[in-house]
Amino acid sequence: MVVAYNREVTAVINTDNLLFNIQQIKSNCITTQHIFAVVKADAYGHGLEEVSKVVESAVDGFCVALIDEAIALRNAGITKPILVMGLTPAYLVPLCVANDVSVTFTNLEFLQEVVSLPLTKSLKVHLAVDTGMNRIGVETVEETLAIEHFLQQHDLVFEFEGIFTHFATADGEDDNKVVKQYERFERIVDALSKKPKYVHLGNSAMTLWRHQFYSDIARIGIAMYGLNPSDFVLDLPFELKSALSLTAQINHVHLLKKGESVSYGAKYIAKKDEWIATVPIGYADGWRREYAGMGVYLNGMKCDVLGVICMDQLMIRVPQGTQVGETVELIGKYQSASDVAVSVGTIGYEVLCGISPRVNRQYVSDML
Ligand SMILES: *Cc1c(COP(=O)(O)O)cnc(C)c1O
Repeated sequence: MVVAYNREVTAVINTDNLLFNIQQIKSNCITTQHIFAVVKADAYGHGLEEVSKVVESAVDGFCVALIDEAIALRNAGITKPILVMGLTPAYLVPLCVANDVSVTFTNLEFLQEVVSLPLTKSLKVHLAVDTGMNRIGVETVEETLAIEHFLQQHDLVFEFEGIFTHFATADGEDDNKVVKQYERFERIVDALSKKPKYVHLGNSAMTLWRHQFYSDIARIGIAMYGLNPSDFVLDLPFELKSALSLTAQINHVHLLKKGESVSYGAKYIAKKDEWIATVPIGYADGWRREYAGMGVYLNGMKCDVLGVICMDQLMIRVPQGTQVGETVELIGKYQSASDVAVSVGTIGYEVLCGISPRVNRQYVSDML
């Protein structure tokens, strides 16, 4: 994978803001819980290793989606607990054990397969409970009790470390479905003869807006990166600061003559002479063609994108006198990832995760 270090396009990640957001969550929402930083998908585009190293001392552990992400964290020197929240096939369990990684499972078959493997140490497991997301998890008390029984019989192979669920509507206004999911979860947890160390249900939205539902672990993703999990549906209960901004420098300026067209398909035609600038960022960087309606900001002023966004470049209307080398903001103070997301009917998460690996990430901190 080529990272464009030698190009004037940068995703700047302010690591002070990551720590500020964690502190805000700790002081406003958390009583006795543990905070696990969710750093799947390259830390939502912010950089898995860099973000994890910065926040490790401020959190109690990490959550990732995939075993490869967990291994990358261990290779980066992360020593705190790591939970893989997606499903890991049993044949990969030796890799998990070797890297001291906790895994998520949903059924007895998985445990039976693991028992037949030659393991040197016990495997830490979290049981996922499906309470209405209908993604992964056990659904009934009966299955859960059979699983608990099996775990107790094989307590040298397994460490029953956690049980958790995930909410489908924690970022919405309506409480009904949340309460229903919570009740299903409670019924299953209450049926256990012995609760594991971590009973957890809190993602960012649950932690920000519904921390009356107790969770031993707050699995904090989007809020740590400083975005409102609901974009604009619910107001944030306290300030969060976006960690990522995306900027680029203009590398060409010229006068577009009346009647001339811009970019592929000649979809934009100038009604009068106007100045136009080229910015070296495009859809291969994650600045999708659909974002053309958003514009970019030059010294706080919105500049419209003219014509379609290309793979590596886009064109904008600029005031006369604009110079090559001037910086435009695509995400930052004037335009948030949530603004961009909502303009195309998606969510801030997707905009952040969509910033491609080609874009150089730079880490800044006032504390350095
Ligand atoms: C991704 C994920 C999270 C983190 O969600 P945020 O909304 O980013 O806080 C928490 N729990 C599970 C199971 C997830 O898949």
